[in-house]
Amino acid sequence: MNSVGINNLNNTYQNQNIKNFGTNPYHQNRQGLEQDSFERKEGLSKKKKVGIAVAFIATTAIVIGLLVNKHIKAKDLKKIPEEFRTIFKDLKNETGDNFINKAYNKLKKYMQLEGIAPEKIGRSGPDKGFSIQGGFNPTKNTIEYSNGFFTKLDRATQFEMLAHELKHAEQTSKIIRSGKIDDYARAWAECNVELAKNDPLNVSFTMAYNNAKKHGVEKKFIENSIQLNKDMILDEMTKSHTNTLKMPQFKEGSPEYLDAEKYIEASRNYEGLGLFGLGSEKYKNNLLEKEAYGFGEKMKKYFETLMG
Ligand SMILES: [Zn+2]
Repeated sequence: MNSVGINNLNNTYQNQNIKNFGTNPYHQNRQGLEQDSFERKEGLSKKKKVGIAVAFIATTAIVIGLLVNKHIKAKDLKKIPEEFRTIFKDLKNETGDNFINKAYNKLKKYMQLEGIAPEKIGRSGPDKGFSIQGGFNPTKNTIEYSNGFFTKLDRATQFEMLAHELKHAEQTSKIIRSGKIDDYARAWAECNVELAKNDPLNVSFTMAYNNAKKHGVEKKFIENSIQLNKDMILDEMTKSHTNTLKMPQFKEGSPEYLDAEKYIEASRNYEGLGLFGLGSEKYKNNLLEKEAYGFGEKMKKYFETLMG
């Protein structure tokens, strides 16, 4: 499916069919995919040369750290909803894939996303360097993680990453249940075309765009590209979110509806992790990500407080 766009592009453009030309900006890794990076905290390799003075400061810091931590823990424990205590009790003795699958299903149930979020989680392949990645694809309605997620992370971080991607699934479901799947598909298409325009690696799109500019028809080219991409996204979304589409809708002006409007705007301006998987400020400050990171971190804290 990823390569469809590029082939389309060449064919469409070579045909010089001015009426229909435009191109689908899809290429590998860019399908309106909300891709997230969770770097591992590497072991604290300290140089032995560091001196006593530093060691003293460090000791003081640790003592303060422990006191603060104890205080936070007691406060946090009071805040944790009763439901979580049951969830964590069930997860206490699970490890490996059993833990991941059970935790995923428990979180899904807690977030009322059964039948909405993906049935199962998938694997996206090797990590990118030190960066273990996860992603929710709103077009296909899939959640995937790179290999390191399954083998290299502690359970609390796995729990955090599951919560993060499920938050994206929840955001998408609010949009669809506000009757805005069409606007949503259009927003991703606009985002994809904008990214393709600025992506030097998307050679075929850049060539076609430059050619259109030369002929003074770049506006039409962009609009047609957006339209092509939107149709494709909408078609896939309609198939991958069948259950959600059948669910009761959120009324205009309801909190969910208002969230949906903000999420669509954030999708239009979404910027992925980028070529090196680092994630820019724009990525981190996008509402979709801010919310997902915030929720993931909260879940991790609950997990550590109850299990740690
Ligand atoms: Zn994310």
